[in-house]
Amino acid sequence: MESLWRKQTGKIKPSESIPQSSIRESHWDVVVVGAGMAGILTAYHLKKQGKRVLVVEANTIASGQTERTTAKITSQHGLKYARLIKTIGEQMAKLYAQANELAIAQYAGIIKEKKIDCRFERVDAYLYSLETEENLKEEAKAANRLGIHAEFVTETELPFDVKGAVRFQNQAQFSPLEFVKAVAVELNILEHTMVTEVKDHWVITDKGILTADDIVLATHYPMRNVPGFYFLRQHQERSYVLALSGAEPIKNMYLGIDEDGLSFRQAGEYLLLGGSSHRTGRAYGRKISSKKECGGAYEHLREMKQLYFPETKEVAHWSAQDCMPHDGIPFIGRFSAYTPHLYVATGFQKWGMTTSMIAARLLCDEICGKENPYQEVFSPQRLLVRAGSKDFLKDAAVSVAGLTKGIFTKKRCSHMGCVLKWNPDTHSFDCPCHGSRFDEDGKLLDNPAKTDIS
Ligand SMILES: Cc1cc2nc3c(=O)[nH]c(=O)nc-3n(C[C@H](O)[C@H](O)[C@H](O)COP(=O)(O)OP(=O)(O)OC[C@H]3O[C@@H](n4cnc5c(N)ncnc54)[C@H](O)[C@@H]3O)c2cc1C
Repeated sequence: MESLWRKQTGKIKPSESIPQSSIRESHWDVVVVGAGMAGILTAYHLKKQGKRVLVVEANTIASGQTERTTAKITSQHGLKYARLIKTIGEQMAKLYAQANELAIAQYAGIIKEKKIDCRFERVDAYLYSLETEENLKEEAKAANRLGIHAEFVTETELPFDVKGAVRFQNQAQFSPLEFVKAVAVELNILEHTMVTEVKDHWVITDKGILTADDIVLATHYPMRNVPGFYFLRQHQERSYVLALSGAEPIKNMYLGIDEDGLSFRQAGEYLLLGGSSHRTGRAYGRKISSKKECGGAYEHLREMKQLYFPETKEVAHWSAQDCMPHDGIPFIGRFSAYTPHLYVATGFQKWGMTTSMIAARLLCDEICGKENPYQEVFSPQRLLVRAGSKDFLKDAAVSVAGLTKGIFTKKRCSHMGCVLKWNPDTHSFDCPCHGSRFDEDGKLLDNPAKTDIS
């Protein structure tokens, strides 16, 4: 089913200033691979710096995770700051917080300057719990230490009592595809062109070969395995969303921190209710109809709808996934020490609105040879095994298991050959190791795989 954003905005057409056929086999200052929020914003900033930029997109503009987001623009990324202070220290954690706060202001700046009608609203963001207040108090304290105005509260506008909540003031929400549409119209974008390989200055696509001084992989999950080894440094997690009509509107944005916590925000006349997160390739954890079949992600959300908003009607539902780096910090910068002209933006951990803006500014500065204060925090060259070493080992074990299971019998992923799992909620075959997805007929839905399966 289409997301609410796609229903509202429809298809975003690329600018017709350069005919698609004439772009092939040309040279560019920068080729950006992927026309999601990260790719579009990166191209936008590079163009502003006078670069000749081409965005190459396998499908259509914003047809990846960006069209299925909930589009909260916030520096509140779950229980983040107390953890970051412990793992990377106060100075670096402060830079993470600053970069995200700045990203909110930069959205506001672009929207104002270009007069984009994308329902951008300043609202507060809350983390809440039905079970505990300690973590939340600690998080509020940590965020304040890092310069974010946060407070612990016990009252919210949600239709249930909470043990506590942390409020970050002056965050934002918007309609993401209206924003993308307004920005994309100025850019050169080549749709329906799959990049199959990037090497030195070459961008090899299924329609021909392009060259560029610099190349940015904004493909959500990097399309190259080595060097970089991103498949060892993150896994993918899927979540589900219902859009409801007829609910009493809420003013602010909410995220539950308990197991199976829910997400809420208002989108015009609709309430978005999200949750049921699970690792991609491991179906949501409740058994339904038979012993073997897992699923029930949407059923769980529908039960929550009935419990808290019984008077409402579901008008849309959708799901998406994102890359979860083990140390809780996205990878933005040079792809590897051995690829001087190749850049990457990945590991957005379901906070890709602010992170796309950070990535765009940071990559633009790196490519233009300018200093950027946030380079070190997000550097992909940081240690492979840092704070998340336990997760690293867990992921490596999942990959080995995925490769060795069901050697002759099961459907296998075209990325690295892992055994796929059926997800009854999305009617897809999903990879538990790296998160690629395929429809019932084996057609590729989500990367890092680049080809269909039989
Ligand atoms: C349920 C859910 C809710 C979320 N809500 C929020 C939220 O409220 N706030 C927030 O900040 N973040 C949120 N996120 C995260 C956010 O939506 C994503 O991080 C963000 O949209 C990712 O943008 P992207 O440009 O990196 O990826 P995408 O939008 O996936 O774009 C990547 C593009 O690259 C293209 N591509 C891939 N491989 C190739 C190739 N080989 N050749 C050419 N093109 C290629 C794809 O087709 C795709 O269009 C949420 C995530 C989920 C799962």
